[in-house]
Amino acid sequence: MHSWLYSRLSRVDRLGLYIHIPFCEKKCYYCDFASYSGKRALVVPYLNALAKEIEAKTRGRCFDTIFIGGGTPSYLSSEELVILSGILSGVSRTEECEFTMECNPGNITKEKAKVLWGMGVNRISIGLQSSNDTLLMDIGRIHTFREFRDNFLMLREAGFKNINVDIIYGLPGETLEIFGKTLDDVAMLEPEHISCYSLIIEENTQFYVRRRRDTLILPDEDTEDAMKDLVTSRLESLGFLRYEISNYAREGFECRHNRNYWEFGEYIGCGAAAHEFTGGLRRENIRTVEGYIRSIESDSDAAVRVHENSREDSIEEFLFMGMRLVEGISLNSFKSRFSEDIMDIFGDVIRRHMGDGLLVIEGDRMRFTEKGMDLSNHVLSDLILTV
Ligand code: SF4
Repeated sequence: MHSWLYSRLSRVDRLGLYIHIPFCEKKCYYCDFASYSGKRALVVPYLNALAKEIEAKTRGRCFDTIFIGGGTPSYLSSEELVILSGILSGVSRTEECEFTMECNPGNITKEKAKVLWGMGVNRISIGLQSSNDTLLMDIGRIHTFREFRDNFLMLREAGFKNINVDIIYGLPGETLEIFGKTLDDVAMLEPEHISCYSLIIEENTQFYVRRRRDTLILPDEDTEDAMKDLVTSRLESLGFLRYEISNYAREGFECRHNRNYWEFGEYIGCGAAAHEFTGGLRRENIRTVEGYIRSIESDSDAAVRVHENSREDSIEEFLFMGMRLVEGISLNSFKSRFSEDIMDIFGDVIRRHMGDGLLVIEGDRMRFTEKGMDLSNHVLSDLILTV
């Protein structure tokens, strides 16, 4: 094992657990996640397989964050959530463990909210995407804004004090006014956290096919740029702090689970398509529900890809992930992980982009300026070429 890897391992102080629930009621037209509709009959066999993997991978470990994502974890019935709760009851966690579950409007009920609260979930992430019902229908969502709002208030009533809302901008037919209204409608509900991403047309989605046929009308570049600017100005004026390229939170409510990814921390992943990173190894599980159940039932490894990070891989990831944070990366942390000063490797590129007004170094931290954040891909690819 490389010496840098030893130094990496000695520094582990937080550990996340990601659990993937790959079921959805209906596939949204923009979605390329490992999520499947029409597979309800596989939920219980899937949970049985998950129980085995979780038991094997979490034994002897203590988790600082748990994140149940999907797919749509709230697609599970109350009875199935109780099974999941039983599986997780044996997982050791820190006292202040952040425990998030993703939910989608349209399949959250009072009873399910009660089960989640009882199993220790203390953070909910709800996918809304837009408050405009026509747009919601046009992107294949199964709910209206009103249903979202009712679900949000019901979760509040059930006791949840930490709720994130996901928004996507740049949707087909979306105008700047419609998007501004979405931001206002969401902010009115006073969530603790908002994630706001621009629509990316991914392969293997309905939108990809429609774009190739020229039947997908997206906002033009200027409108999308204006939307991007509006996110930060509007949310900051409403009291949210931008702490990552696409994430905004009220003070004290940043997502600790995701922060661990951005800070190059370690995490275990369970379930179909789950990724994990421990001891310098990246592992990725088989993507299909059927394949996952089969491999776990036959005691085989569900991982279809295992990759040992080279020093260069890790430097790249440390920079790519860490520079997404508004506060940037710690130069001391870089040095202690990679036994080399960042300026000895990237000095020329860093000085050039500092001169361009895209990067700043303040004390121990290097971060993007506001202008640099917009051009982050350009700066990061320059850095990577140097590794
Ligand atoms: S609900 Fe989420 S995971 Fe499911 S299809 Fe829609 S975007 Fe994808």
